[in-house]
Amino acid sequence: MAEQYDVVIVGGGIIGTSIAYHLACDTPARSVCLLERSKLTSGTTWHAAGLVAELRASANLTRLAKYSGELYEALEQAGHGLGYKRPGALTLATHPDRRYELLKQAAMARQNGVGCDWLRPEEIAERWPHLHLDDILGGVYMPRDGQTNPVDTTLALARLARAKGAMILEDTPVTRIKVNNGVATGVYTEATEINAEQVVICAGLWTRNLGLSVGAHFPLYPAEHFYAVTEPVTTPTNAPIVRVPDDGIYLKPEAGRLLIGCFERDAKPLAPESLPADFSFDELPFDLDHFAPYLQRALARVPEATQTGIRTWFNGPESFTPDGRYLLGESPQVEQLFVAAGFNSIGIQSAGGVGKVMTQWLHQRRPPMDLWEVDVRRFSPLHNETQYLIERTSESLGLLYAMHWPHFESASARNQKQSPVHAELAAAGACFGELAGWERPNWYAAPGETARYQYSYGKQNWFERTRIEHQAVRHNVALFDQTSFAKYLISGPDACRFLNRLSTANVDIPIGNVVYCQWLNESGGIEADITLTRIAEDEFWVISAAASVTRDLHWLARHAREFRVTCTNISERYAVFAVMGPNARVHLQALTEHSLANADFPFATSANLEIGGCTVRAIRITYVGELGWELYVPWQDAPAVYATLTREPIQHAGYHAMNSLRLEKAYRHWGHDISDEDNPLQAGLSFTCDFTKPGGFIGDNALIEQQSRNLTRRLALFKLDNSETLLTHDEPIWDGEQRVGHIVSSGYSYHENCSLGFGYVHNVAGISRQALLAGHYTVEVADQYINATVSLRAVYDPDNLRIHV
Ligand SMILES: Cc1cc2nc3c(=O)[nH]c(=O)nc-3n(C[C@H](O)[C@H](O)[C@H](O)COP(=O)(O)OP(=O)(O)OC[C@H]3O[C@@H](n4cnc5c(N)ncnc54)[C@H](O)[C@@H]3O)c2cc1C
Repeated sequence: MAEQYDVVIVGGGIIGTSIAYHLACDTPARSVCLLERSKLTSGTTWHAAGLVAELRASANLTRLAKYSGELYEALEQAGHGLGYKRPGALTLATHPDRRYELLKQAAMARQNGVGCDWLRPEEIAERWPHLHLDDILGGVYMPRDGQTNPVDTTLALARLARAKGAMILEDTPVTRIKVNNGVATGVYTEATEINAEQVVICAGLWTRNLGLSVGAHFPLYPAEHFYAVTEPVTTPTNAPIVRVPDDGIYLKPEAGRLLIGCFERDAKPLAPESLPADFSFDELPFDLDHFAPYLQRALARVPEATQTGIRTWFNGPESFTPDGRYLLGESPQVEQLFVAAGFNSIGIQSAGGVGKVMTQWLHQRRPPMDLWEVDVRRFSPLHNETQYLIERTSESLGLLYAMHWPHFESASARNQKQSPVHAELAAAGACFGELAGWERPNWYAAPGETARYQYSYGKQNWFERTRIEHQAVRHNVALFDQTSFAKYLISGPDACRFLNRLSTANVDIPIGNVVYCQWLNESGGIEADITLTRIAEDEFWVISAAASVTRDLHWLARHAREFRVTCTNISERYAVFAVMGPNARVHLQALTEHSLANADFPFATSANLEIGGCTVRAIRITYVGELGWELYVPWQDAPAVYATLTREPIQHAGYHAMNSLRLEKAYRHWGHDISDEDNPLQAGLSFTCDFTKPGGFIGDNALIEQQSRNLTRRLALFKLDNSETLLTHDEPIWDGEQRVGHIVSSGYSYHENCSLGFGYVHNVAGISRQALLAGHYTVEVADQYINATVSLRAVYDPDNLRIHV
C-alpha cells in the first residue's frame, strides 16, 4: 500500500464508492484509497429500497439524479449486473393542492429533460389495475424513473474503480482524521497512517462524529427508516413504482411482492452512539405501532395485500439533515476535508451525480455548478448542535412527502437566534420565519389577528397585510428589522488592498463612503453580493446575506493569507433597523441632531448618529428602492433605539414586503438570482466591475475574456400579464414554441399588481439585449401558460430618482 494518495475516502457505502469510481476514471486519474470500517455497503446502503428517481427540487439536482440513472443504465447494459431497470414511477394526488403541486413539478421536469405525463385516474388504472384509486385526482408518470439493487450497484462501482487503480480496503476503520495547521493531510487507521492531499468523509451516519473530532461541522442525524415487504400480490408486469405522498407512502413492486415504505410525520431520531461499534449489515427493532398508520393506508391502496400478509418487516438507520438536502463540499472549518453525506433517503439515486461533481469539486476546490442548496457551507455550527438536530430530524423526514407549500416554515427547533427586540416585534404582530437559524419577521398580523401562516398555492393569509407594509414603504415610511444581515469587520494595514483584490468595485473610497459590488471566483462566478463601507483608513464593514455567513467567512479566510488583515464576524454584535420610505428623513430627523439633508448625508454614505442616547452607525443605502437609512445598533442599545424609533407611529414591514419591493427594483438576491455559476455580465451587474483599478480583482480575466464573446444567458425580469397567478421558482419560460429558461426567484408586485420573477434566458448561439427584449414570452405555471413582459430594468423607478432625493 502506498503511503501517499491524492485522495482518501472514508466509507464504502454507495456514495464513497461512487466517488472512488469517478476519481479513478477521471483524467488525469487521481490516486485514490477508500477505507471501509467493515464491508462495502454494510452501513445504510445494503438495505435501501433502491428507487432511482430523476426529478429533484431544482434544475441542478435533477441533473445529478438524471446522471445517476444514465450511469447505472449504461453499466447495466455493459453487463455489470447492477439490477438496474426503468419501470417508471407514478406520483398520485388526492386533493387539488397536491394536483397543482405535481403539475408544477411536471412542468419543471420537462424543462429539465425529464419525461413526464399527467395521467387521469382511468389511465393510472390501466397501468396498475388493482390500485384503489377512488380518491385519486390523477398523477404524474415519469416513464424513465428507475430502480436498482443498491448492493450490486455499489459492488460494481467498486470493481470498476479497482480495475482503474483505486485502492479499496475493507475492515479498515479510520480512527482519526489527520489535521495539520487546520489542513486535513490524511487519516489514521488502527494499524497505520495514510497521507493524502484531500480527505473525503462519506461515512454515512458516522460522518457527523468523525467531523466533530477535528472541529468540522457536518450537520446530519440518523433516524429510523421503515419498510415492509408483502407476500406475493398481483402486480402487472413492469408495474411502475407508486408514490402517494398524501398517504406518506411509496410502493415498489419487487419480484411479485410489494415493498411498502413510508415518510412519517413524527420520525424517530436515533443517537448514533446507541448503535453497537460493530453495527454492520444490521437492522433496528421494528416499531409496528409507529408504522401501522402507513401500513393501513398502503393496504387500503392495495387491498389484495391484506389477504396475503407481510413477509418482511424492516427498520434501518438513514441520515437526515436540517433542511432535507444532502451535504457536499469542503469543510469551512478544516481545509482539504470534504464531505458527501446526509442523503435523506435519496443516496442511491444521488450517488452517480454526486460522484461526478465531487470529483470536479475536489479538483478545483469549488463546485462545478451552482450547488449551494447542498453545499455544507449553508450551515453554521449551531445547526450541528445535538438537541437542534434531534428536534429538526423528527420533522424533516416527514417533510419529504409533505406539501411543499410556498413560504413553508419548519415548526421544530426554532428560536435559535433572535433580534434583541424580538419580543417587541412579536408584540407588533410579527409572524416569524427562519433563515440561517434567525427568527425574522416575514409579515405583521393586524391587531387581534393570529400571526400564523395559512398555507396555500394561492394568495396566502398575509397577502393583504404585506400590501399595507409595501404601500407604507412606497408612500410613507416603514421599519424593517434586518438584524439577521451578515456583518463583517475587515481591518488591518492591508484591508483596502485585500478587499480590492476580492471585490469587483474599487473599494479605495473615502472614509464614510459605501459601495455595492460582488466577490467573484476565478471563472467570474458570483461568490458573494455585498455592500462595503469604509469606516476608517484600514477598516471596512461588509454587509452580506444572512444565509451566507459561513460561506463568506470561508472565502475571506481562504484569501486573507497573504495580507495583513483580520476578518471578524460582527453579525451578532449589532441589531439592524432600516427606516425606509419617502418620509424616512422626516421620521428620523426628529430623533437625531445630525443633519440628514441630502447634501449632508448623501446616498451611499455612512455616519454615526445619536438616537435615543445611543450611537448607531447609519448607512444610507436601500434594498427596497426608497429613501432610507439602515441603522446598525450595538446589541445592548437595540431596545432603547427601537423604542425611540417607534415613539411616533411607524408601520412595521417584513421580509415578504421586502421581497416584493426589491423585485420591483430588480435588485438581485444571492443564492436565487445570482450564484457561483452566474457572472456579473450575465446577471446584468457589470456596472459594479471596475476593470481599470490597480491590481484588478479575482475573476476579472474571465469576465474580460467573456466580453469578447456573445453571452449565452442573461438575467431578466418577467412580469406576468395577469394579477392572480403566483410564481414560486423553476417555472419554465417560453419564447413562442421554445423553452428558453426558467424563473429563479419571484414575488408579487403590489405596485404592478401582478407576479414578478427573475429568470435566465438561454441561447447557445448567443443572446443580445435586443434579441432578449424582442422575445414573446409566456411562463408555464402548472398547466397554464401566462403571457409575460420582459424587462432588463427595474419596473419601479428605473432611474433611481427616489433614492437620491
Ligand atoms: C429503509 C431505507 C430505504 C431507502 N430507500 C432508498 C431509495 O429507494 N432510494 C434512494 O436513493 N435511497 C434510499 N435510501 C437511502 C440510502 O440508502 C442512503 O442514502 C445511502 O445508502 C447512503 O449511502 P452512504 O454511502 O452515504 O452511507 P452508508 O451506506 O451508510 O455508507 C457509509 C459507510 O461508511 C462506513 N464508515 C463509517 N465510519 C467509518 C470509519 N470511521 N472508517 C471507515 N469507514 C467508516 C460505514 O461502515 C458505511 O459502510 C433508503 C434508506 C433506508 C434506510
